[in-house]
Amino acid sequence: MTRYIFVTGGVVSSIGKGLSSASLAYLLQSRGYKVRLRKLDPYLNVDPGTMSPFQHGEVFVTDDGAETDLDLGHYERFSGVSAKKSDNITTGKIYNDVLNREREGKYLGKTVQVIPHITDRIKEFIKKDSSKEDFVICEIGGIVGDIESLPFIEAIRQFANDVGKKNALFIHLTLVPYLKSSDEIKTKPTQHSVKELRSIGVQPDIIICRSERPIPLEHRKKISLFCNVNIKNVIETVDVRTIYEAPISFYKEKLDIQVLNYFKLKTKKSVDLKPWKKITKTILQNKKQVNIALIGKYVELKDAYKSLDEALTHGGIENNIKINLIRIDSEKLKISEIKSKLKNISGILIPGGFGKRGTDGKIESIKYARINKIPFLGICYGMQMAIIEFARNKLNLKKATSSEFDKKGLHIIGLLNEWTKDGKKIQGTEKNLGGTMRLGSYDAKLKKNSLIQKIYKTNLIKERHRHRYEVNIAFKDKFEKKGMLFSGLSPDGSLPEIIELKNHPWFIGVQFHPEFKSRPLSPHPLFSSFIKASKNH
Ligand code: GLN
Repeated sequence: MTRYIFVTGGVVSSIGKGLSSASLAYLLQSRGYKVRLRKLDPYLNVDPGTMSPFQHGEVFVTDDGAETDLDLGHYERFSGVSAKKSDNITTGKIYNDVLNREREGKYLGKTVQVIPHITDRIKEFIKKDSSKEDFVICEIGGIVGDIESLPFIEAIRQFANDVGKKNALFIHLTLVPYLKSSDEIKTKPTQHSVKELRSIGVQPDIIICRSERPIPLEHRKKISLFCNVNIKNVIETVDVRTIYEAPISFYKEKLDIQVLNYFKLKTKKSVDLKPWKKITKTILQNKKQVNIALIGKYVELKDAYKSLDEALTHGGIENNIKINLIRIDSEKLKISEIKSKLKNISGILIPGGFGKRGTDGKIESIKYARINKIPFLGICYGMQMAIIEFARNKLNLKKATSSEFDKKGLHIIGLLNEWTKDGKKIQGTEKNLGGTMRLGSYDAKLKKNSLIQKIYKTNLIKERHRHRYEVNIAFKDKFEKKGMLFSGLSPDGSLPEIIELKNHPWFIGVQFHPEFKSRPLSPHPLFSSFIKASKNH
């Protein structure tokens, strides 16, 4: 039987609902239960795929090709369970479905309303595509009190009633601020937020209080009294030094035990915290560090490259070294500054990206990495830029470019329909931007004895994609003659997936996003190898 745990947030956003949900998932799994995590987002975009990373941080891509909220990345990293398309829903998607049904006449002449039609769809989603999980943890985006999240809160209220309150648990995460001037911890915002939640029919069973400092018992008692929650279920979460300490901290606070007690379930196994302790220790105690430059357009917003940051950290854990990430804004990077900016850098990473802005700085930095033999990893757009750099400077194809940002040049990178003769594989119509890219997991065959094959230690890999443009395979032989190997191809040999340089210690470009599959407990081999090469540089 499946039990449902709903996680709402109060007072302010960004206080770690995603991390709390992910940590709880780990603890429950460790106790011997099967867990699934889902995210309900209250915005009107059908999915976050069309949103700028500046707006909402990274777009996380699942194996089955969904463009989802970055919290799904946390879920995967902590629980180890690959998320699916059906694990993230937005208000936009729900309304889209309901309105399409209305147009198809499926409501048989009824007045279509938020309650019950929108709420019914939300409830269907919560149960959809399940596979006998013991727990489904659903995080509700935004905070209580937002107009936008109302239909979701109403839906979970009804849901608990439908499945029976003993099978549904409400966790509310709030901020308990500390006021420096009066040296006081304040519980009032939590009280107000819970009041707001109760006014729409939801009484939290557990309150997680995010705080800068430990919350004294008397304050916990106050929260328990005013918010009508058992004192044992007032759980504090004090700022952790690294996110990977979160499962340890929630374990100490007995969050998992309180959840199991609520459902009257036994603890089947004891929790294994060893891996998290080891990771935390490595991250916090490592004195040695390696300078890695991340050259991209969205470096100012930390969340824009969330999975990438994490994957690099995982590579650092594997190599016992701390990553000193130097974020360089590609739009502001002047060609004349490249030498001085990259002087003390041991590894250069160019991440995925879109559009023309910032390309010159990226291409010049790649040239610098190639000539000076600095370890280089190009991801998606980063690989496309490496191809352009090589074509211009080594193949002497000065007009080499991508049709993404130059319609006139020589299209070494282009839409498939721009250069396939049979015209069969058309993608990227450019009219409808949502969900029209090559998305999700695809196979790639690795060339024997290539660096990439040595790294992956296999001949066939599966990695997640999110791009519209492809490298034109017709140029393969020209590149290979000059020392750039196409060391990974799609199984039919038509799409270049990986490139590497022969006369370079470590220069790899990948058309996919390996960062989405890296996990702290199993770091991705590509990042481990990149960090190892950078460490030895
Ligand atoms: N803009 C490029 C494309 O669509 C690369 C996308 C990416 O880096 N994710 O092909």
